[in-house]
Amino acid sequence: MLKDNIVIVGCGRLGANLANAMSDDGKSVVVIDSNKESFRKLSPSYGGLTITGDAMELSVLAEAEIENAGAVVTVTNNDNTNIMVAQLAKELFHINEVVARLYDPDRECVYQEFGIRTICPAVLSTKEIDKLLDVWDGDEAV
Ligand code: AMP
Repeated sequence: MLKDNIVIVGCGRLGANLANAMSDDGKSVVVIDSNKESFRKLSPSYGGLTITGDAMELSVLAEAEIENAGAVVTVTNNDNTNIMVAQLAKELFHINEVVARLYDPDRECVYQEFGIRTICPAVLSTKEIDKLLDVWDGDEAV
């Protein structure tokens, strides 16, 4: 296991952005996507690997050498896939640093109870909007 080896599952808007940023930061990145067209979102400076395949298949995770990953991030557009692959990474490949993106806020706390760290864009956005609205309130009060 190498701390700077990152496996990203899903090369959509978030996955590609993350892959580009981590690659630019000098990390060794492998990004998996079932649709090879998705890799077009990677920047020309992206220096990592791409693997085309369904991340639910163990052979695809093995090809990505997930067992050597310091961190795994699952950001496909399917909550079930993200959770399944996160669980495989944690339980089967013993990766400690695992984060899954979940669209459904109701499921976020359930999976956190299983020890899977999750981020939920709807929850994060709600907090940020709330902060912005607080600022607007403050401006009005001055
Ligand atoms: P976005 O909706 O922009 O976050 O993109 C999600 C990405 O996840 C797309 O590029 C999909 O092709 C990819 N994706 C969805 N399911 C899987 C899967 N089972 N394995 C690998 N990639 C997937």
